[in-house]
Amino acid sequence: MRKRIIAGNWKMNMTLLQAEALAGALLAGYTHNSAREAVVCPPAVVLAALRSRLAGSGIQLGAQNMHEAESGAYTGEVSAAMLVGTGCTHVILGHSERRALFGETDAIINKKIKAALLARLVPIFCVGEVLAERKAGRAEEVTAGQVRAGLQGIGTSDILACVIAYEPVWAIGTGETATPAQADDMHAAIRRVLNQIYGEVVADSVSILYGGSVNDKNIDELIARPNIDGALVGGASLKAESFLRIINYR
Ligand code: PEP
Repeated sequence: MRKRIIAGNWKMNMTLLQAEALAGALLAGYTHNSAREAVVCPPAVVLAALRSRLAGSGIQLGAQNMHEAESGAYTGEVSAAMLVGTGCTHVILGHSERRALFGETDAIINKKIKAALLARLVPIFCVGEVLAERKAGRAEEVTAGQVRAGLQGIGTSDILACVIAYEPVWAIGTGETATPAQADDMHAAIRRVLNQIYGEVVADSVSILYGGSVNDKNIDELIARPNIDGALVGGASLKAESFLRIINYR
């Protein structure tokens, strides 16, 4: 049985006060269900404050990024150990905004995944094609390439500690969702790559989340698909009501 996970990526939204209010509203409506994990990934500066707010609730904390080095002269960056110290259990890595806006390459993402695993953080490793690649019929090839490159040198026990998020870039923040069938096909393609690298049993054990304009209206249909194990949610995670409804998918 693969883990079902709903993770909220707050991106660069929410001041400390706003983040505390959103966490409070989530707590007020949240009932822990061990069969589905809930994770919120707020900006790094509010992680420590949310740790105490969310303690004992079952809602887990994740970061949106980290540096691959242990420590040192990397002004403005945070390390895996720092994230662990603020109560993080998860970290989003390789998000398409990091790739496109901050020059993150597959090689950098691979280093970050390894550093996160060493610190016992669960990497939520994001992959997905841009619109031109999909239109050119290259969605599978591009996404498979990102999966292979990001997981270079990562062994069987470590992949079991990873979560993959398929996020077609054309569906992020656009209101345009991949159809459940499109998403399921891509998840199956990712699982085939995992099968080639790690074998069937391992490939069948890795959770693959879908991300890209997931909301309270489309979550049920997406998660009903056999290869979709949860969601990475951007915009709809910024309102307690919609995020709670997504967590409570049917
Ligand atoms: C995301 O940024 O990971 C994301 C999926 O955003 P949205 O849900 O807003 O498309």
